[in-house]
Parts: sequence; structure tokens; C-alpha cells
Amino acid sequence: MDTYYDLFKEIGVRYRDFVAFSTKICGVLGINPNEINNILEALKQKPRIPVLWFHGLECTCCSESLMRSSSPVFSDIVSLIALEYDDLISASCGENLLNYKKKIIEQYKGNYILAIEGSITEFENGACCMVGGKPFNEELLEAAEGAKAIIAWGSCASFGCVQAAYPNPTKSSSVDTIIKNKPIVKVPGCPPIPEIMAGVIVYMLLKDELPPLDSKLRPKMFYGMTIHDTCYRKSFYNANKFAERFDDEGAKAGYCLYKLGCKGPSTYNACSSVGWYNGLSFPIRSGHGCIGCSQEGFWDKTMYKEEAPITPQNFDIFSF
Ligand code: SF4
Ligand code: SF4
Repeated sequence: MDTYYDLFKEIGVRYRDFVAFSTKICGVLGINPNEINNILEALKQKPRIPVLWFHGLECTCCSESLMRSSSPVFSDIVSLIALEYDDLISASCGENLLNYKKKIIEQYKGNYILAIEGSITEFENGACCMVGGKPFNEELLEAAEGAKAIIAWGSCASFGCVQAAYPNPTKSSSVDTIIKNKPIVKVPGCPPIPEIMAGVIVYMLLKDELPPLDSKLRPKMFYGMTIHDTCYRKSFYNANKFAERFDDEGAKAGYCLYKLGCKGPSTYNACSSVGWYNGLSFPIRSGHGCIGCSQEGFWDKTMYKEEAPITPQNFDIFSF
């Protein structure tokens, strides 16, 4: 496999642009710029790591988040990784694609990263999510066997997310419910912030190890603080100034949204520091409280001020 630098040379990138790219990576990862020489050496010498990207029970919002990022991060990342298989964006399909996947798994056994978007489902032995005539769970376990590490993208792969909401008719849950013997990093959020996704991939490519994780397997560098910790409305919270309604004078003055159900104080994510749309905004800046989309179980908790009653129902998924 080529090194990253080989790839850059091949596509005509000049050395000074290569250095600029490496500097940008330092910024995304919060790495000390003095370490730029180590990054350059790693990019020159390390072979590119193949990545297989699988999709379970999900809405593809994690891929959308990365692909539609307004920053050039996605194109940089896609050229940086060797994305060998992704059934969502592949031009091929059917038998050809399935055979190619088999070949890639064999060829890079023990060396590839398996990135997973979407939850697993155990209802009717996985009948809610089939890939090539097989339950997704089976496909996942086969591919995980030869993976050196697993990335669980988004709240679906990390914790189950909305499809696991009570009473969980599809018996959905996180990927580590069935993958037990591999190093896993979880990147929750619905969807996760593209710069964070990029940062996690690049860290693993450069260091050849998982970033430091917390007890929920999230990278500490991005999930170490709550939304509240770095929220620009925190001074209003401290001064006891709260909006009571979305259209009252407090809301117009930009007061804290805690009394309108903001979950920022208990949500670990980087929205209030990294932001969305290239740092342009995030939900609280747009006037709505955080709903805690990166927290485990947020889908069954009260996301808004009024508590929505949950009525047990006799679900039969095939009669929807
Ligand atoms: S709006 Fe939410 S995150 Fe921001 S200060 Fe208020 S409670 Fe904290
Ligand atoms: S502000 Fe809260 S709900 Fe919104 S994206 Fe960030 S973590 Fe999710």
C-alpha cells in the first residue's frame, strides 16, 4: 500500500501544500504545532490504512454530515484514507460489490479499520436489516474478525439511538453488543460533527492507535467537556437569567435556555466549541436548547420542556 505522501505526489500536490495540509491536521487534532515534523515523517513513511465503512439500521446522517461538511475536510480525509469499501457511496452494486468486499477483507486481514454507521438489530434474527441476503449482524461479525480496530459512528452505532427507543420494536442496540473482542472508539452525535469524525480518523491513521477514551469509549479530546462548559450563554445561566418561553423577552435577549429544556449541562460534545457548518453556528446559537443527541438514552428522555407520555403498544413491525 502507498504512503500518504506517495498519494499526494501522485495527484500533483506540491511539498509546501503537503506541509500546509499537515499543519491543518495539527489544528483539527489540537496537536502542538511543534510536532509538525513528526506528523510529516509519519505521512511520508506510513502506508495508508484501508477502511471498510458499513451501514446498519440508520438514516445515513453520519455520512451526510461528513460529505456535506462545508469545510474541505471531507475531500482531504477521503484522499487520506484508503476507503476500500462503502456500500453507500460505491459506484458498484450487487454481486460485484459483495465479491469485492470479500476480497478486500481477505487481502487486508488484520490491518483494516472497520467503520460502522447504524445500529444492529436482533429482532427476528436480524431480519430488519439485511445485506446481500444476510442479516447485517452476520456481515458485521465476519468483517470485525479481521479488523484491527472499530469506529462506531454516531449515536446509532454507539448507543442504539432513536430506533432503540422504548419499546424498541426492532431490538436495536449498539455495535459493541455483539462485537466483544476488538478495540472500539465511539463517536456519538446525531449526527457527529464532521471535524470530529475527521479528527478521529486522522488520529488513528497517524498514531496507529485509538485516541485516549473515556468510560463510554468516546475520545476524551472531543467529548471531555459538556456543551454547557463552553456555551456562550453560560454567563446568563450564572446570573440566573433564563428564557421562559421561546418568544419572550429573555429569549430575544439571548438568555440561557435551561428552563426551556436545554440538556447542555449533561451532554458531552464539542458543539459549543467546534460548532457546525465550519464553526458558523450550533443549535443553542440558533435559539433552541441542546437535546443531548450524543448522550446514551437521550431518545427516551424528555428532550423538550413538556414531557411526552410514552404509551406501551403492541408493536408488530410488519403491520406498519
Ligand atoms: S443554553 Fe444550555 S448549555 Fe447554554 S448555558 Fe444555558 S443550560 Fe448551559
Ligand atoms: S447541541 Fe446538543 S443536540 Fe445539538 S448537535 Fe450538539 S449535542 Fe446534539
